[in-house]
Amino acid sequence: MINEEKYKELKAYCAARNIELIAVSKKQPNEKIQYLYDLGHRDFGENRVEELQNKCHLFPDDIRWHFIGHLQSKKVKLFEPIPYLIHSVDRHKLLEVLDKEGAKRDQKINILIQVKIAKEDSKYGFTFKEAEKTIDNLIKEDQYSHLALKGVMAMATFTDNEGQVQSEFISLAKFMVEMRKKHTDSPKSLEVLSIGMSNDYSIAADAGGNMVRIGSAIFGPRKYD
Ligand SMILES: *Cc1c(COP(=O)(O)O)cnc(C)c1O
Repeated sequence: MINEEKYKELKAYCAARNIELIAVSKKQPNEKIQYLYDLGHRDFGENRVEELQNKCHLFPDDIRWHFIGHLQSKKVKLFEPIPYLIHSVDRHKLLEVLDKEGAKRDQKINILIQVKIAKEDSKYGFTFKEAEKTIDNLIKEDQYSHLALKGVMAMATFTDNEGQVQSEFISLAKFMVEMRKKHTDSPKSLEVLSIGMSNDYSIAADAGGNMVRIGSAIFGPRKYD
């Protein structure tokens, strides 16, 4: 079963700091998701379109599904419905595809801009410079009228070096402070700072993160990884 004690500890921790807790349910059995739902949890994160589509119809529709994985353009049309928030918008092409999909469905799609803060080559995301330009464009709204920007997301380098993780998170938090200052008239667009996972959520919280995405600490190890 799930680690209920850890979940309750995380819930209290997040509530005390005004942080939103996303339970990352990718590759977890449905019974565990249902168990957490029955405890009252409503925000769940998935990283594959097919898996999300298979799952979301098995659960009540008051769940807020967060899409957190690298998203291929051709899969956008498979979303039914569009997730509550797409964290992983990591390139221009995807902005265009999502905007078109929003127009087609006559709805606004909630997104975060993924910023590459990790030193590894494998992590997706905009550079700080690209992210700034993209955020400016999204907020001006002369482009991408079917996208609703909510903030930014990032993943730190996968390392035991906490100092490095901390400095990566802090660099993004500083960027957010600057962007919020630049766009004080649209505070809702830069509300969310989605950083922190099972191993580094307290570093993320101390850096100023206000949305954490936690999987294995709540659910236990994934079925296949
Ligand atoms: C899997 C995943 C998480 C959760 O990871 P855990 O270490 O299990 O907490 C968070 N964010 C993203 C983007 C993920 O892919």
